[in-house]
Amino acid sequence: MTGTVLIVDDQKGVRRLLEELFRRDGWQVKVAGDGIEAMDSVEEIIPDLVLMDVKMPNMNGLEATHAIMARNPSIPIIMMTAYGEIEVVRQALEAGVKRCISKPFDIVTLRDMVNELMIDRAS
Ligand SMILES: [Mg+2]
Repeated sequence: MTGTVLIVDDQKGVRRLLEELFRRDGWQVKVAGDGIEAMDSVEEIIPDLVLMDVKMPNMNGLEATHAIMARNPSIPIIMMTAYGEIEVVRQALEAGVKRCISKPFDIVTLRDMVNELMIDRAS
């Protein structure tokens, strides 16, 4: 099950890697380099899934999550945190994020998480 995924990360390398992975799996991919770009993107097309980095300039991932959730609470968001950021994970889940995955993550783990979310969403 695929659709449109929005990948939000300030690191170009991460965006590229994830874009390639999702395209290969049949997704339509949109990318954003910070929270403000992410919000602009959601205004254009409502994605089926958002992959959100936490630390970004201009508007961070938690702020962007709050902004997106306020308008589109049904969009599933996966937050990409750093290892051991327990407080960030807590805040992310409180903000409505569905899952957190700590960087650096295994591609297979991410794919399983995405598939599980999409199945949950469809049921
Ligand atoms: Mg970052």
